[in-house]
Amino acid sequence: MKSIIGNIYGVDSIKNMMEVENEKNGIKIRCYLAHPLVNKSRKSAITLIVNGRDVKNYGIINSIIEGYDTYIPVGRYPLAVVFIKIDPMLVDVNVHPTKKEVRLSSEDLMKELITSTIKNTLNKNMVIPKIDIEPKPINTLHNIENKVEVKQEEKANDYIEKMEYEKQSFLNEDSVELDKKLPYLEYIGQYAGTYLIFQNETGLFLMDQHAAAERIRYEKYIVELTNPSKISQELLIPSIIELTKTEKIFIDSHIDNFSNLGITIEDASDSSIYLRSVPVWILGDPVTSTEEMIKYIVEKNTIDLKSIRDELAKRIACKGAIKANRNLEIDEINALLAQLSECKNPFTCPHGRPTIISITQKEIEKLFLRIM
Ligand SMILES: [Zn+2]
Repeated sequence: MKSIIGNIYGVDSIKNMMEVENEKNGIKIRCYLAHPLVNKSRKSAITLIVNGRDVKNYGIINSIIEGYDTYIPVGRYPLAVVFIKIDPMLVDVNVHPTKKEVRLSSEDLMKELITSTIKNTLNKNMVIPKIDIEPKPINTLHNIENKVEVKQEEKANDYIEKMEYEKQSFLNEDSVELDKKLPYLEYIGQYAGTYLIFQNETGLFLMDQHAAAERIRYEKYIVELTNPSKISQELLIPSIIELTKTEKIFIDSHIDNFSNLGITIEDASDSSIYLRSVPVWILGDPVTSTEEMIKYIVEKNTIDLKSIRDELAKRIACKGAIKANRNLEIDEINALLAQLSECKNPFTCPHGRPTIISITQKEIEKLFLRIM
C-alpha cells in the first residue's frame, strides 16, 4: 500500500501522513491522510482504492472531503488515500471493468464510516502549528523576484515540511478521552485589537479572537442542533424581522417547528414577524444569531435540521461571535481560552483558518541572531 502511495504522491509524502484503520459491518477501510495544512486546489489529490482497484466514486470522495471539513480552508481539498475492502459482490459489476466509476452497495454506511474515521483522526492529531521564520537578507532585488514567483501550492508545502506534528498510527477508539489540547498559556496582551498574545516556556502564541470564538460556538451549536432543547428565553423587547411574502408563508406553515427549537414567533404583518423568544443555547448575541438561524432555515426551505445542521452551525457561529478589532476584558479572554481548550478541534475555525499559531523561543532567538 505504501508503495502505491509513494508512486502517486512521492515517497516523502508518506512519512508525513497519518495512518488509520477502521472496520464496520464487514467494510474495512485504511486511510492515509495528509495533514490539513497540506491542501490542494483540486480534488485530484484524493485517491480511492476499492478491493485493490483505483476507482472514482463521487459520493465516497465527498465523504473524504467532508471528513476534513472545517480543518482546511474553504475551497481547498485534502491529500488522502483511502483503501476500502469489501465483499466483491457489493461492487456493481454492471459497470464496465475498464471504467473508473463504480457503484457500491451500502454506500451510505461506508461514507459515514470514512467521514467519522477521518474526523476522529484529525481531532487526535492536530497541534498548534509552529511558524518557522528564517532570517533572510532583506530588500534585495533577488528576494523580491522570488517572492512573486512563489506559487500557492509550493507555499503550502513549504509550510508543512517545517511544521511539526506527531505522527501516530493507531486504531480508531472513540472512547479514548484526551487531555486538554492546548498547553498552559499566560496572557500578555492584544495586538491590533484582534490577536491575543500568550506565552509559556516553549514560546510565543498568537490567537485570532474571532476565529477562536467561532470555533467554540460552532462545536456548541453542532451539539445543540443535533438534539435541540425547546427551552427558550423571552426577549424584553421583541425583535422585528422583515421577510418577503414567500418567506412569510414558509414561516407561517412551520410555526410549530420553530417553537420546537425554542424560537417563538408572532405575526407582525404580511411581511414581518415578531421574534418573542430565542433558544437558551444560543451564545453571544442571541437575537442576531436567532435571526440568522431563521433566515437560513427559510432560505434552505426546509426545517430538517439534520440536512442543514452543519452549515447552519457555521452561520450562527460567525454571527454574534467576538469580532476582530475589539478590545477584550480579561474575563472574556480567560473564558475564550478555557472554552477553546475544551473544543474537539481547537486549532481551526469552522472555515478552516487557524485559531492559534506559535513561534518557539528558539525561532525568536534565531531572529535576533542570539543563536545561529
Ligand atoms: Zn471562520
